[in-house]
Amino acid sequence: MKILVTGGAGFLGSHLCKKLLSEKHRVICIDNFYTGRKQNIDELTTDTNFQIIEGDITKPLDFEELDRIYNLACPASPPAYQKDPVYTWRTSVLGMNNMLELSRKNNNVPILQASTSEIYGDPLEHPQKESYWGNVNPCGIRSCYDEGKRAAETICMDFFRKYQTPVRVIRIFNTYGPNMDPQDGRVVSNFIMEALTNQDITIYGDGSQTRSFQFVSDLIEGMTRMMENKEGSTGPVNLGNPVEFTVKQLAEIVLEMIPESTSKIVFRPIPGDDPKVRKPDITLAREKLGWEPKVPLREGLFKTIEYFRNQIL
Ligand code: UDP
Repeated sequence: MKILVTGGAGFLGSHLCKKLLSEKHRVICIDNFYTGRKQNIDELTTDTNFQIIEGDITKPLDFEELDRIYNLACPASPPAYQKDPVYTWRTSVLGMNNMLELSRKNNNVPILQASTSEIYGDPLEHPQKESYWGNVNPCGIRSCYDEGKRAAETICMDFFRKYQTPVRVIRIFNTYGPNMDPQDGRVVSNFIMEALTNQDITIYGDGSQTRSFQFVSDLIEGMTRMMENKEGSTGPVNLGNPVEFTVKQLAEIVLEMIPESTSKIVFRPIPGDDPKVRKPDITLAREKLGWEPKVPLREGLFKTIEYFRNQIL
């Protein structure tokens, strides 16, 4: 197949491109390198089935004879998406519209939208099922991302209802692994980098807030299963690892796994609207996709720590 991956040089996009190439598809990767990194796709450029195009999905793009579109383009770490909030919602909202129009121009090819657990906001239901509408501040510092992604889901469903566009919406929970930008500001990359460089481990708040961390290979497997699901299910479907940790537990595990580190845990003010809990209910993904995560936290962290170690050398 000829497959377009937007955000293909990003953390998730690069793993997806690699998997699709290993299955012998032709992959066109679009990235504007706002948060995507050339080094993530270096190893793919020798494959003649791989094409990288520097481009921005907020502008209409023209491609022909596509078979699939994966829409992953968007800054995703809180510091990255808050740096230029207008650009963030434009990428989510205008980018989604442009990619759905592109699907229509290509005979309504299946299009997968990388949505997010952030659409649940600071959830009042725990764990979060897809039927939960969420608790999101529409005017806060996270809104450019949360509401941008919520609007993108709306646009997907409207294209499905009006044009029968085969949309596939996945809600991605906190994901980590190799190819994360060590500087991107997310908790897993921050804690590992701080521990490896003997700096303070910075917990925001008291560390009692929870997240459920999924290793990247599990997510990519779920993502491609969702795209190819035989029922033609639109989703949304949660993809995440339901094993929940407090942020303080994560800091302790990282320190335990880097025993040579002299880092100490310190506490910093918690940023606005930081969700207090997050854990996916993955019943739907189990039933519809026969999918569940396989990689436990320590195993995934081991691989991620090795990756970051090599980045520092
Ligand atoms: N966090 C932290 N220290 C850091 C980075 C993040 O304590 O150096 C906390 C953050 O406040 C949040 C959680 O870790 O409660 C997850 O943050 P992340 O930025 O990874 O993603 P989020 O799930 O908030 O989008």
